[in-house]
Amino acid sequence: MIYLDHAATTKIRDEVFDAMLPYLKEEYGNPSSVYALGRSAHKALDRAREQVRAALGARAAREIFFTGCGTESDNWAIRGAALENVKKGRHIITTKVEHHAVLDSCKYLEKLGWEVTYLDVDSSGQVSAGDVAGAIRPDTVLISVMFANNEVGTINPIREIGELAREKGILFHVDAVQAVGHVPIDVENMGIDMLSLSGHKFYAPKGVGALYIRNGVTIEKFLQGGAQERRRRAGTENVASIVGMGEAITLAMQEMPEETRRLGKLSAHMLSRLQKEIPGTRLNGHAEDRLPGNVNISLPSVRSEAALFHLDLEGIACSSGSACTSGSVEASHVLLAMGLSEREARSALRFTMGRETTREELDRTVDVLKKIAEQKEK
Ligand SMILES: *Cc1c(COP(=O)(O)O)cnc(C)c1O
Repeated sequence: MIYLDHAATTKIRDEVFDAMLPYLKEEYGNPSSVYALGRSAHKALDRAREQVRAALGARAAREIFFTGCGTESDNWAIRGAALENVKKGRHIITTKVEHHAVLDSCKYLEKLGWEVTYLDVDSSGQVSAGDVAGAIRPDTVLISVMFANNEVGTINPIREIGELAREKGILFHVDAVQAVGHVPIDVENMGIDMLSLSGHKFYAPKGVGALYIRNGVTIEKFLQGGAQERRRRAGTENVASIVGMGEAITLAMQEMPEETRRLGKLSAHMLSRLQKEIPGTRLNGHAEDRLPGNVNISLPSVRSEAALFHLDLEGIACSSGSACTSGSVEASHVLLAMGLSEREARSALRFTMGRETTREELDRTVDVLKKIAEQKEK
């Protein structure tokens, strides 16, 4: 199998699995228990919290709160900030190209009486800081803009938006699920107040994530119950997975410079072959400000669904858009917001590379795509 869907999920790496194993077996204590077994689990959480802190450039490990997934982090940040600030206002600014975890949290709040501005993006999928500035109102309490888009890989001007939010005293949440472990992030110098991440997008297991909440920022609880996570996120921690996430983020940070170069070269190679050998291939997303391992293309006269089917028969796993919309017949909300026609949006294919992706795999994928495109022309 050729796996080119790393934006959907990644395989747990061996070092991560090995780090987790003791916490699934003999080190099974509840981190809230006071005896030695519990204290050992608690220490493991402390270590992972420090690893995540270091990767984000956060000031203190106590600003990291472990959650059940990226979706929970997004839900918590948005609903929590909205509920905490009802007295100040009920207006939220976000973009049209966010992940559904953000969009649906906003839609939920709209039903409850909040107003949400969904900003347009340009043809590369990027939001402009100027547009964010123009949407700010006296009753704006939250700005939520994703770091990098999960479909087209476009990276947003996060630092500029952070500065703006800081100036106006508005909370700034960033869904960085696609970015963490792949591109450098610094919550301090980017002016980020809350940041969502998810382990399974950087070789940790599924079902574990974190929300960074800047010291001094309070948001309403999402889960009610025990005193875990400094009384802000109830529920016994998923110790083994959190340990795995800590290990994975540390390894990702160490390997990032080299991996960025390698993936950048691979993407450029794939794209140049595609554009040369399948005339009319268009790259979706920003040409430079993009995740290094993302190649999202529209092929002329090829429907995504048919192409995915053929690719699957050839043992190649990729995606037509975001994982949640593939399989359904709707065109991607991201591509439509970028101004693609229904037809172009329905012919998009997303290839996302990872640690084990090789040039040979990409060459084989391009060969299969050529065959698919040629068949269509007949
Ligand atoms: C995957 C993803 C999420 C959701 O994370 P889960 O851990 O799968 O719930 C949210 N936002 C973006 C941008 C993602 O890519």
